[in-house]
Order: sequence, then C-alpha cells, then structure tokens
Amino acid sequence: MSGPIRLALVGMGKIARDQHLPAIASNPDIVLAATVSRHGEGEAGVPFFHSIEELAASGVEIDAVALCTPPQPRRAIAHFAIQQGWHVFLEKPPGATLAEVEALRDAADAKGVSLFASWHSRYAAGVEPARAWLATRDIRAVTITWREDVRVWHPGQDWIFEAGGFGVFDPGINALSIATRVLPRPFFVETAELDVPANRAAPIAARIAFRDAAGAPVTMDLDFRQEGPQSWDIVVETDAGTLTLAKGGGELSIAGGGEHAGDTDLHGEYPGLYRRFADIVRAGSSDVDITPLRLVADSFLTARINAIEPFDW
Ligand code: NAP
Repeated sequence: MSGPIRLALVGMGKIARDQHLPAIASNPDIVLAATVSRHGEGEAGVPFFHSIEELAASGVEIDAVALCTPPQPRRAIAHFAIQQGWHVFLEKPPGATLAEVEALRDAADAKGVSLFASWHSRYAAGVEPARAWLATRDIRAVTITWREDVRVWHPGQDWIFEAGGFGVFDPGINALSIATRVLPRPFFVETAELDVPANRAAPIAARIAFRDAAGAPVTMDLDFRQEGPQSWDIVVETDAGTLTLAKGGGELSIAGGGEHAGDTDLHGEYPGLYRRFADIVRAGSSDVDITPLRLVADSFLTARINAIEPFDW
C-alpha cells in the first residue's frame, strides 16, 4: 500500500472522540476516511455511515477500520471488515470471548489482513522501563489496586454492566495488560471473588488472588465505587527493592528513587497505538495477544459470585 492508510472509525462514543480522533489527526501515516455510528452526524467533511454494511456499499475507499464499540457487538463488525479485505484495529478488550478473538485472528490470517488487539495501557510512559528493570529481579509479591468511580469515567454506559460488558474488569483488564507485559513470569488465577449488583449482570468489584510460576503472590483489588482519589497502581516487591507503577502506568518509581514521569492520562498512549497499527499494516503482520483477556476469563471461571445491593447511576 502506498500513501497513508485510509481508516474508518466505528462506534463514535467517548473513546473514539477523546482519543482516536486526535491520535489519527496527529499521525501522517493515517487519514480519517469515514466514520460509522448508529447515531449522530459524524465529522465535518468526512463521509459518515450508520453501519459498516452501508460503508462497504458506498464505494468510499477504505484500507482499515478501528472498532470502538463496546465488546459485545465487536466480533460481527470485525468479521465483516476482514471479509472486505480491511485491516482491523480492535479497542480493548479485543472481544467478549476468547474463542471469537482467536477466530478473528484466523480469519485475518486467511484473508491476508492485519489484526491488532490494542492494549492502550501498555503504551503508558512507565511500562517499558518497568519491564526492563524487572526482567532481572527476583519478584517477591505484586499488589494491583485499580479503584475508580464508574459514575465519573463511564457515565451512563449501561453496556458495561450487561453480560459481556466486563463490569469492573473493563478498567481491570488494563491493569492485567500492564502486569502481563512487565512481570517476567506468567501468573495464574487461584481464587476470585466478584461482587455483582442484584440489578446488573457484571461485577462492580472484584478481588483476585493469582500466583506466578515461581510461587510469588499477585493480588488484584478492583472497585468501581471509589470516590475521592482514584487508584491505578501496581506495586512490585523484589530482591532489589520496591517498584511502583502509579497512575495507570504513567508514573514509575524504583526502590525509592529514579522517578520517571510521563503523560499520566491516555493522551500519550493512543499515538503509540496508531504508530504500532501502521507498522503492522505495513509489515503485513498481526499483533493479537490475548493473555490479559484469558486472565479475565479465568477469573470468571473460578469465581465465587456475591449478589450485592443494586447499583443505579
Ligand atoms: P461509549 O462511549 O459507550 O461508546 C461506544 C459507542 O459504540 C457508542 O457511542 C455507540 O455509538 C456504539 N455502540 C454501542 N452499542 C453498539 C452496538 N450494539 N452495536 C454497534 N455500535 C454500538 O463507550 P467507550 O467508553 O467509548 O468504550 C468503547 C470501548 O473502548 C470499550 O471497549 C472500552 O473498554 C474501550 N475504552 C474506553 C475507554 C474510556 O475511557 N472510556 C478507554 C480505553 C478504552 P452509536 O450508538 O452511535 O452506534
């Protein structure tokens, strides 16, 4: 393909507007060729369609799509896009189930297009330096605390509490995408406890106990009811002191010193995602790591489920 990648953005909600549009605008290798959403009127000067089928029938030339819908409808849209010969960028989580993501990867391979399971938190400033430092350490214990106010960050997004919406694992999978990147050994679920409001289908809080392949405990505390200061922290105790990744991976401190502070919001992450997507499209490869999704699936498989008081916005 010569020239910029002509990309259609699908599912024009919060993340599409807050992060994808500016990241696309700042990348000379990608041009916004269309937007697709069931509601709204699209962007000035850019062709707009109400469904991906309408886009395909329009004759507008497209090389790739980025799918920003909730996970539940994503597989069908991605499969349709792959059949058109379009490269596909999947927002996280890459799907509602493991099997559907594996099938999409096989379909993309068969069609000769790129599939990208994006994990934006892996592009936070502290993540790669943390990975490099931890690679040679003896890990003693890991504590993941991901507590945020769902009313602030996901206002009115009922899909998040529906089946397949992941509940508190919607942000929690970001923590797992970082932990599976920076920790040198794989880790496995031992016990999981999920709190599900009586009027909802997905958990509002969860406590997971993992253990890594050498026996070190990895504990994770997720809660959507956090008011006041928010916590997106991973603390790793090692033989050489404590490493802390705070603010969703944006801020790193090692053994009480050596502070690396980068962007502490998503703005640094999406330009990195689009550079990576352009690279794999140009290289004719795919990037589909389902490890974080597998740990979420294993948490649901092993969980004790507590019915708790109803949740309303
Ligand atoms: P959102 O604000 O609800 O936007 C999703 C959009 O998808 C909606 O505006 C809707 O637009 C479309 N949509 C909803 N249901 C659909 C369906 N059944 N079929 C087709 N389209 C549908 O959600 P969001 O916060 O942007 O999150 C979307 C994805 O991005 C999630 O996977 C989330 O985990 C991920 N993400 C979110 C954030 C964040 O901070 N919010 C950060 C990183 C990643 P129409 O009704 O117009 O079709």
